[in-house]
Amino acid sequence: MTFDYDLFVIGGGSGGVRAARVAAATGAKVALAEEYRMGGTCVIRGCVPKKLMVFASGYAEMFDDARAYGWDVQEGPFDWPKFRTHLHAELDRLEGIYRKLLSGSNVEIFDARATLKDAHTVTLSTGQDLRAKHILVATGGRPVVPDMAGAELAITSNEVFLLDRMPKSILIIGGGYIASEFAGILNGLGVKVTQFYRGAQILRGFDDEARGLVAEGMRAKGVNLHLGTNIVEMRAATKEDLEGVQEGVPMESGKPAQLPHAGGGHGIWVKATNGTEEVYDQVMFATGRAPNTEGMGLEAAGVTVGRRGEIIVDEYSQTAVPSIYAIGDVTNRVQLTPVAIREGMAFVETVFKGNPTAVDHDLIPSAVFTQPELGTVGLTEEQAREIEPVEIYCTSFKPMNHAFAGRDDRVLMKLVVSKATRKVLGCHIVADHAGEMIQLVGIAVKMGATKEDFDRTVAVHPTMAEELVTMKEPMRTA
Ligand code: NDP
Repeated sequence: MTFDYDLFVIGGGSGGVRAARVAAATGAKVALAEEYRMGGTCVIRGCVPKKLMVFASGYAEMFDDARAYGWDVQEGPFDWPKFRTHLHAELDRLEGIYRKLLSGSNVEIFDARATLKDAHTVTLSTGQDLRAKHILVATGGRPVVPDMAGAELAITSNEVFLLDRMPKSILIIGGGYIASEFAGILNGLGVKVTQFYRGAQILRGFDDEARGLVAEGMRAKGVNLHLGTNIVEMRAATKEDLEGVQEGVPMESGKPAQLPHAGGGHGIWVKATNGTEEVYDQVMFATGRAPNTEGMGLEAAGVTVGRRGEIIVDEYSQTAVPSIYAIGDVTNRVQLTPVAIREGMAFVETVFKGNPTAVDHDLIPSAVFTQPELGTVGLTEEQAREIEPVEIYCTSFKPMNHAFAGRDDRVLMKLVVSKATRKVLGCHIVADHAGEMIQLVGIAVKMGATKEDFDRTVAVHPTMAEELVTMKEPMRTA
């Protein structure tokens, strides 16, 4: 059987690009097809632009703090079009780097959609059929919105980076990473933010104490967070809806302004489960993501697809068809860029280096770029207590930089420790730069460090993180 390529990768996101480059470095003949922009969700409409917006949104508080530290600075308005132009220039630059890395590694790029024809053939949107010994599906995921009338009036995280102008007010639906991160970002940029989460506390799955402190901090910074609340109805606002209300909707000479993304151009009327009716300039759904498997020809080729559209793979990322593998968000294992990259590397190790390598999904450190920021690795207190007796070492305090600036923000440093083995089973940090801290704690936890190993480490003073090695008595045992 002759093939055009040793490997054909579908999808130019973090996972696909890395797998293509590393496979090509082994001498394999590799091609990659991407239907949109190289870089995928992370670079084009996810982690990277989101983090840059987190930075942008932090300046409002920094102006205040600077004054407390003796600087004579005046706060000016935020210029969204100026920032957006710079942001997209940066994304163009990064996309260019991704392309260069691929072509520099001798990966042939097809700017086209690719679907599966059979176990070894992909069909491009140009009509071309190409045959490959191995096919790697790395098509990622996309935001999903609830199936309700009027949902088309709302935006998702895909559109938020492209807005013509910053809304005056926004309703964000959801309590996960994306909803909570954008609540903080938009609030920092001066948008009046309301967030509805249907459950009892945002960030389900994270440590309860940490979630509580994040929610408290978000509220203190101005996010109007409603728990146990969801949207029941939405539609373009009418003139009557707007009469006499609408703090958030811009009015021009007594009339509502034209809103580029709001259905009727006059804001969006929303009825909530708590009985309230409000008009928002913009509504954003951050209600989860679904794998991009529709219309890919997967089932016809023999690939098994799960109930939520995810490609079912084994520990080596191999699908039910031996020549077809899948990595990243399309497999719905752990939806994180570094995990997709790891899965891509393990795939190359397994298939092109003859060294079967299963991906290790245990103890993945991660950060949520909420304001305040959350960093976490390992078990939550709630999970650990279900498994074995634990000691909880925990401290919450006002860090010196905030205290000096007159802020009330508190940080949390928390260790979940096994009573039997003394191992640190989990670490949860709510603080500025928690993401940076948890990366380093993650190494110790992954190595199996005990509480006594933490205690043997000399504190770095004066820092917030020193509390991680100076907590002497457990706050509680369970
Ligand atoms: P999540 O699954 O984290 O959150 C979805 C949220 O929407 C949940 O709060 C969920 O509620 C709620 N929801 C779902 N359906 C409905 C509905 N019909 N009506 C109302 N609420 C609903 O998804 P995200 O989109 O926030 O993020 C997707 C993934 O992307 C994350 O899991 C994460 O892996 C990744 N990501 C990581 C980031 C990081 O590392 N910093 C940043 C952004 C994304 P409930 O809890 O009740 O189910």
